[in-house]
Amino acid sequence: MRLGVISAARAMNALGLNRGTAGNVSARWRDGFLVTPTGMAYDETLPDDIVFVRRDGSWRGARRPSSEWRFHRDIYEAREEAGAILHAHSSFATALACLRSGIPPFHYMIARFGGGSIRCADYATFGTQELSRNVVDALEGRRACLLANHGMLVFGRGLRHALDLAVELETLCEQYWRARQIGEPVLLADAEIGRVLERFADYGQQETSGADSDQGSPGRAERRWRPRPGADGVPSTGAGGTSPSGQSAEGRDEPRTPRNS
Ligand SMILES: [Zn+2]
Repeated sequence: MRLGVISAARAMNALGLNRGTAGNVSARWRDGFLVTPTGMAYDETLPDDIVFVRRDGSWRGARRPSSEWRFHRDIYEAREEAGAILHAHSSFATALACLRSGIPPFHYMIARFGGGSIRCADYATFGTQELSRNVVDALEGRRACLLANHGMLVFGRGLRHALDLAVELETLCEQYWRARQIGEPVLLADAEIGRVLERFADYGQQETSGADSDQGSPGRAERRWRPRPGADGVPSTGAGGTSPSGQSAEGRDEPRTPRNS
């Protein structure tokens, strides 16, 4: 699992989703999650550098966890279907996030993220509990969001799924960007997004299991994706998600460790 986290982080950079040490990757593990360390080049990161963070925020490892460990913890807490989380400062998603507006249903693949839009989480300083709260709110009924003046985030069933979704989101952001250069995109109606969600579900029923194994090279992940029901978590209606988000960060004790970087 530690190698999987490192592979996904390296793939994130190789696919052009991220540069340098920005961004972070985690996978649910035992009663917490494994996450990339703060400020380390992924090429130099070894399995022992991956940090195990428990639900109470305490952590175990030779390195300090990503400064954004709070939103990783709170997403796993709020969304039981989340098996892996990927956060990146990819260029097109981040550029749109700097406008502080979400992405409307300009393309039917928006529905892959659970509904008819991708929201932009309100701005808060990186690494803070406030940012985590804003992110969990923006993810309600969705598996991705933008982070105002910051970047993007997706979660999936596993590392490969999360990487697939990250590639898809960045692609959609680029397409939306380009469409906006030449005009005002015509948006799809809610009813059409509902039909797309149903078709995704029907389509997926023909697929055999195992297509989303987290083994192998996630670098080729974007070519393998097929929508699946249930497993992909695409709801069969246009309605929101299954988890009460927005409440998870409230009233939770602030752990003393780890600190922000
Ligand atoms: Zn970031």
